Amino acid sequence: ARGLVWFRRDLRVQDNAALYHALRSCREVVCAFVFDRAILDALPRRDRRVEFIHESVLQLQAALRSMGGDLVVRHAVAEQEIAPLARQLEVQAVFANRDDEPAALDRDAQVLGALANAGVSFQTFKDHLVFERDEVLTQAGGVYSVFTPYKRAWMAKAEDAFYLSPYPVERHADALMPTPAAHRTEVPALADLGFEPTNLHELGLGAGMAGARQLFDEFVGRIDRYGDTRDFPAVRGPSYLGVHLRFGTLSIREAAATAHALAGNGSRGAATWLGELIWRDFYAQVLAHRPDLAEGKSYKHEYDRIRWHHGKHADQLFAAWCEGRTGYPLVDAGMRQLVQSGYMHNRLRMVTASFLCKDLGLDWRRGEAFFAEHLNDFEFASNNGGWQWASSSGCDAQPYFRIFNPVTQSERFDPEGKFIRRYVPELAKLSNKMIHAPWLAKPVELEAAGLRIGHDYPAPVVDHGEARQQTLERYSVARESA
Ligand code: FAD
Repeated sequence: ARGLVWFRRDLRVQDNAALYHALRSCREVVCAFVFDRAILDALPRRDRRVEFIHESVLQLQAALRSMGGDLVVRHAVAEQEIAPLARQLEVQAVFANRDDEPAALDRDAQVLGALANAGVSFQTFKDHLVFERDEVLTQAGGVYSVFTPYKRAWMAKAEDAFYLSPYPVERHADALMPTPAAHRTEVPALADLGFEPTNLHELGLGAGMAGARQLFDEFVGRIDRYGDTRDFPAVRGPSYLGVHLRFGTLSIREAAATAHALAGNGSRGAATWLGELIWRDFYAQVLAHRPDLAEGKSYKHEYDRIRWHHGKHADQLFAAWCEGRTGYPLVDAGMRQLVQSGYMHNRLRMVTASFLCKDLGLDWRRGEAFFAEHLNDFEFASNNGGWQWASSSGCDAQPYFRIFNPVTQSERFDPEGKFIRRYVPELAKLSNKMIHAPWLAKPVELEAAGLRIGHDYPAPVVDHGEARQQTLERYSVARESA
């Protein structure tokens, strides 16, 4: 039989579940990728993720060709393209890796129907999670809603080495076949897809399998320090691998297996990092069981009673937050990092998200949408999970009365103001002490730093103490029924 592997968020050949299963069960395997107009047409014309995907697809095609195969590349609406492509390539089965985001599930349901009409089977596989859907349940068969016991169950299940083992794609590569001449395609140029280059290269963010390999090796070399360094945005503590896990240029099994083995050898940093990968599975299973989250619902329904600040003033506050000019330096540094690079440090994601809903009183969904537009590693389940954690409406979330103080967070996690100085250079000359709350500096200090508050850098858009009181009142409607 001949099979078609349809690549989506799994842009690598090594340890790829769908590719492996196709090679195992078909005598001939062809491969395809569709630049999906249903997704791309709605994006701004400069999007780092599109450029990242574009380069990753080029690498994927080159790798498949070097193994005796190929990659057909189309620019079309995937939902309408796959069945005709399967007919043209004369395949009996299409193989793909699962994506449980509700929009992807809808797309796949359409594709399944169209393929069935053409007499072609559609087989999907778990690939981008270690455990998905119902694989980790409580002893009573229920869904975990608290992370710690979920993690314990996850770790117990992962003792079975099968789950973290790679799929040996290379061993079966013989079945890869070149694309029939009539359908052979080159990857279109970025401009032909309608996109312009971004600052991806300047940022030094290597795309594709090669970028993933380099970054992963570099991170493994410092993984022991992860636990001690990951909370300080000025330090190279985190892995920065989120985007590679998002687009599957790095295998989650390889990442988790490496961390698991190092943790077993006593690396505390690796154990902490593995815990973060488990959060990723946790939020994916939350979404799989609660598809209404994709319709904007709070995980805890009573939180949908909250009346958020809205209207013109709220819009102005939102614009200040987006543009990094709230007057709170750490918040502004985080927001500027996001817009300039598509990355934001995890500590700052927590601080800026909390600031949006608990200092500005704005609906967390506005912040969620802004992150979705800008994050290179944007993943619906993790982003929604993170936002609902910060707004206290989520699964195993921060309690509503825990409200980050943006100044003390800054003093703790950027004590020398190094990160602030990088992204808010107008504050660079302030002392380490005053940089966290410049409006409290004495006139002589401001003058020495060449800074006029309200002119070179904004005065705080809200008073944290007052905002805190208002938030406790605002949240009382959810609390009363809880
Ligand atoms: P590392 O610290 O090196 O972590 C390694 C990997 O573990 C990450 O790449 C990610 O895949 C996973 N991970 C780490 N923390 C979490 C977490 N809390 N939840 C789920 N997975 C986690 N992560 C995303 O991948 N996409 C998002 O869209 C996203 N949005 C977020 C929004 C908010 C408001 C918050 C508070 C967190 C969000 N996170 C998101 C989680 C986390 O901030 C990022 O995964 C992390 O900062 C990515 O950087 P890294 O790869 O250097 O992380």
